[in-house]
This record gives sequence, structure tokens and C-alpha cells, in this order.
Amino acid sequence: MSTPSDCILLPAGTRLFSEGDAGDYAYLIKSGEIEIVVERDGHDMVLARRGAGEIIGEMALLDSGRRSASAHVVVSAAVTAISSRQLEQRISNTDPILRMCLGVVIERYRETLRLAAQDGIAPPPAAPGRPIGRDLNAALETLTLEREIERALADDEFQLYFQPIVRLPDRGVAGFEALIRWQHPDRGLLTPAQFIPVAESSGLVVRITEWVMRAAVRTIPMLLAALPETPGVTSQTEDPLFVSVNVSGHDLLQPAFAEMVVGILRGAGIAPQHLKLEITERMLMKDPVRAGRVLRICRDHGCGIAVDDFGTGYSSLSHLSTLPITTLKIDRCFVQAMTGDPTSRKIVNTIRHLARELKIPVVAEGIESEAEVLVLDAMHCEYGQGYLFGGPMPVSDAVAALRARPPSCSNPFRLSA
Ligand code: C2E
Ligand code: CA
Ligand code: CA
Repeated sequence: MSTPSDCILLPAGTRLFSEGDAGDYAYLIKSGEIEIVVERDGHDMVLARRGAGEIIGEMALLDSGRRSASAHVVVSAAVTAISSRQLEQRISNTDPILRMCLGVVIERYRETLRLAAQDGIAPPPAAPGRPIGRDLNAALETLTLEREIERALADDEFQLYFQPIVRLPDRGVAGFEALIRWQHPDRGLLTPAQFIPVAESSGLVVRITEWVMRAAVRTIPMLLAALPETPGVTSQTEDPLFVSVNVSGHDLLQPAFAEMVVGILRGAGIAPQHLKLEITERMLMKDPVRAGRVLRICRDHGCGIAVDDFGTGYSSLSHLSTLPITTLKIDRCFVQAMTGDPTSRKIVNTIRHLARELKIPVVAEGIESEAEVLVLDAMHCEYGQGYLFGGPMPVSDAVAALRARPPSCSNPFRLSA
């Protein structure tokens, strides 16, 4: 079974794997029954019978070892394969104590198998299979989506949309946030909420980020070409047009992340000042020291660093001041509640003051009304993003938006974005 498809149908009598085979896949049983069998002294000994909602073949997979038993289908079964890559990613992301416990469990299991084989004693019969529950369905959906994401990367089904970020005083376009969409062959255009969480949990997000980074950097020359020949607005100024890319916590754990970013920029001949990395406050706070180290390298090369969804992630101020941040993006929940809720207004104002102390500008996210702009103007917020100025759009529309609303020559607040 080298490349199992999403759902494998196995007639009764099939041998799914044999003792001694490489443990490359575990199998989630959707229906039917499969026996785990070892051969001793020329006789088959049934160790367990597994049914719907259970997993088989997981021990060799966890252990990266050989199969210690065979699997025979006794009642026609439908199974879904879990590859060692899918499992390894999860194990490497998990708590080290949990990883140690897992190692001990595997060792105990192998001990039991050895003792049972020596004594010729078969273990007690397996409990009957549990009914298919919500857990199984969710697990199957996740596995299917993961495989589809891999296919989408290979078949180039992802697209980038661009949402303008404007200077609030004159509404000139300062840059764009690159936002991913998935043109799914059966399900239509999917938003990030429909697949990014699974990409995060499986680690596939790292490959998505690389795709986004390449696609976003490729568009920068097109956007720059749309700028009018205005003196002062070039890649050399302190206020260049930028594209920001959303980066995940997983990305910052990749040893070669900064190298990848710099390599993509160099390869495309783009000055790093045109690229900004957005990382949510929550992700940043998971491991601020490690994140800070990677972001520092990117910043030293000239990329901008924005903290996304600011106000929702409980940053400690001591960490904030040590991170190489160039922009704070105020989460849209505060911006949208601000006009009717004095507490949200105070939060926005406090973030504004904090940013001023740190000498970095803010972007207010999710602006939908002129009333919100009035409040933000009174607080001297530098930048805004929201449907009022334009939603996420294809690059051709972004170019048109730039022609219609070119950036002004200087930033009135004299803070680089
Ligand atoms: P985000 O980074 O906070 O991006 C802003 C989201 O708010 C976008 O949703 C945007 O369409 C939406 N938005 C912008 N202005 C308004 C407004 O005025 N009102 C309202 N209600 N919403 C507005 P989108 O594109 O669905 O993206 C959702 C989230 O998915 C993003 O939130 C980001 O966390 C994630 N995401 C998007 N693209 C990528 C990507 O390429 N990589 C990764 N890792 N995550 C991404
Ligand atoms: Ca963002
Ligand atoms: Ca955000």
C-alpha cells in the first residue's frame, strides 16, 4: 500500500499489511472488521479484532519500525490512511512530556507482544468496535482536507487577493495585505477560515506560507509599476509601498524561514522594504524569544514586522519592547465596537498611545464606516484597513486602486509603516 487514496475499500480476506513490512501508514477504520494476527510456530494467533472508529497499524508508524503483526480483513472494510508525515508533524509539535509518554507506551506494547509470543498466550479478545461518532467524522474530514491541500499546492489552486491599507489622513494607498483564497474544483472559492486551521494543525501551513510569499513578492513589481512618477515614492524612500504576508507560528519554528524569505526577495530582485510579515499577537506570545530571533533576522534585512490582531493576545509589555516590531494592527473587534462602546474606544486609544511610546504606527483593522474614521482621526491613528476603503481584491483591481488613490509623498506622522 504505497500511496493510499482517501478511502480504501477492502474485501473480506484482504491482507492489509504483513508482519515485517515497513510501518509507513496507520489506518482509521470507517466500517468493517480487521484482525491483527501474529504467526507463531506455523500457526496464526489473533491478537485483536478492530472495527469502526478504531485505528490499526499505529504502533509501527509511531515507532518508525517494522510491522510486528499482520492485518487481515475479516468483514469487508473501508479505511483511511494516515501517513507517517501526518503523524510525525503532530508529534514533533506536541509537548515533550507527552512525547516521552508515547515512547514508553510503545515500549510497553512491544514488551507485551514479546511476552505473549514466548508464552504462546493470546491476549484477551478485543472489545467490540465503537460506533462511528463525531470524533471519527471530524478526523476523516481533517485527513481528507489535508490531502486536498497538498493536491491544491501541487495543482496551483490557491489565489492571492489584496486588501488596501490606506493612510487615514489622505486615504492614499500605503500598501496591501495579501489574503489567500482557494479555488476548490468542487467546493468553489474557499476563504482561509475553511482551510487554514487544518493547515496549521498539520504543519502544511509552512508550505502555504512559502507559496503565498512567492506569489506576493511576484506581484510587487506590478504594484510598483502602477505608481505615478512621484518624486519621493520609490523603493529608496523611508515610506515605500508594501505587501504584507500572514505568517504562522509554525513558520517561525522553521530553522531556514528567514533564509527562505530573503532568498525569495533576492530571487525576484525586490527590496525587502516592500515586504511586511504579519504575525498574530497570539502566535507571537507562544514563544516570543524564538519568534523574536527569527523576526530580527528578517527585520535586519529590511522587512517590516506587523503584530496582527493586536489587543486579543495578552502580550506582555516587556516582550513587546524587545521584539523588532514596525507596526501594530489593532484588531477589528475593538475598531468595530468603538463607536458604541466606550471601553473599546479606550482600548483603541491605549494601543495608540502604547504604539506612540514604542515609536511605531498603528493600522486600525475592519473599518466599515466614516463614523469610525472620525474617531480614529481624533486619536491620530496613522493607517486604516477595511471594507470602507476596499475589501480583498484580485491584483488587477489592486493596481487600479493604486492608480485611483496613489500614496502621498510623505507620511504626516513621520513613522515608517
Ligand atoms: P487577518 O489577517 O486579520 O485578515 C483580515 C481579515 O479581515 C480578512 O479576512 C479580511 O477580508 C477581513 N476584513 C477586512 N476588512 C474587513 C472589514 O471591514 N470588515 C470585516 N468584517 N472583515 C474585514 P479573510 O481574508 O477571510 O482572512 C481571515 C484570516 O485568515 C486572516 O485574518 C488571517 O488570519 C488568515 N489568513 C488569510 N490569508 C492567509 C495566509 O496567506 N496565510 C495565513 N497563515 N493566514 C491567512
Ligand atoms: Ca493579517
Ligand atoms: Ca487582523
